[in-house]
Amino acid sequence: MNFLVTGGAGFIGSAVCRHICSDLSNNVTNVDKLTYAGNLASLRPIENQHNYRFEQKDICDDGSILDILRRDDIDVVMHLAAESHVDRSIDGPEAFIETNVIGTFRMLKASLEYYRGLSGAKKERFRFHHISTDEVFGDLPFDSGIFTEETPYAPSSPYSASKAASDHLVRAWHETYGLPVVLSNCSNNYGPFHFPEKLIPLVILNALDEKPLPIYGKGENVRDWLYVEDHARALATIATKGVNGESYNVGGNSERTNLSVVQTICDILDRKRPRKKGSYSDLITYVTDRPGHDRRYAIDASKIKRELGWTPQESFETGLARTIDWYLANEWWWGPIRREKYSGQRLGEAQKA
Ligand code: NAD
Repeated sequence: MNFLVTGGAGFIGSAVCRHICSDLSNNVTNVDKLTYAGNLASLRPIENQHNYRFEQKDICDDGSILDILRRDDIDVVMHLAAESHVDRSIDGPEAFIETNVIGTFRMLKASLEYYRGLSGAKKERFRFHHISTDEVFGDLPFDSGIFTEETPYAPSSPYSASKAASDHLVRAWHETYGLPVVLSNCSNNYGPFHFPEKLIPLVILNALDEKPLPIYGKGENVRDWLYVEDHARALATIATKGVNGESYNVGGNSERTNLSVVQTICDILDRKRPRKKGSYSDLITYVTDRPGHDRRYAIDASKIKRELGWTPQESFETGLARTIDWYLANEWWWGPIRREKYSGQRLGEAQKA
């Protein structure tokens, strides 16, 4: 099948490109604007494969998207391109509206025009898969509740509000114009090639540099962690086997407080790379909480397990150990980003994975 992946130079998009290209009967066209979050080095494992190609384009440019859809005879669009960092959305919401709302509208516009020109089996096969977040559902109490596909939307941040808007647009293009779509909403991802300002890589790399390990408030906020390669498998399954018009929640069944995430990283590093003196947890530093910080997200992923047969392969502990090993072995990837793009002043950003 021929896939168009938007945002394929980002954290999850690059995992999706690597996963789909591992089946040599698939072709992937990766469309990415290369914002600060895009990094072509994450595609190095596949960049020379015959079934992978890259186009530096803005998703707001629907004319170029339509040309690519036609040129590459696309069967499935997997739309991941987004502004994705909550703290950046608080400092500067405009780019989030531009890319996440207008950009998704332009992707739908180009995809509908392309879809209308298809016929037969090709038209039957076409899907627009929109990748979204559990943050559209808002905040859960610490001790009860879980997000299902029926949970009403209640976004708290400019980021989650822009993603909620894009989800609504995708459903409207299905209901109003008959565009075949599937949607998925997932929890916090972690794993290799994760931008070093996010909580897990930041804590690993700061610990190795003997720098403070920042935690928002008291570290009580709970997130449900999903290993990125498990997510990439889930997305490929949803894009190709998901039922037209349906949405699927994807989660790792690994709820952890931020404090326990940081503590577990310190424990693993204490074993793998002992400090000269004391534990890495001595570096934990509490910083002022983010405004509108949701307490807890938790995903009920039973629908995708039941209907599409997907299950995560990594537990949080095995996925975290693999992630730490990857960061220890791959300074070629994260070193330049840490030195050039992200100097570590925006410590607060680390609390949104
Ligand atoms: P990311 O920030 O790592 O990557 C986003 C990519 O989109 C970058 O490569 C960037 O260059 C590209 N991009 C941004 N604006 C663009 C534009 N206008 N045109 C073309 N490309 C553009 O994001 P991620 O963490 O990989 O997330 C991917 C998707 O998954 C997003 O839609 C996000 O909302 C969703 N999601 C992420 C998480 C998570 O834990 N990371 C959780 C739930 C949902």
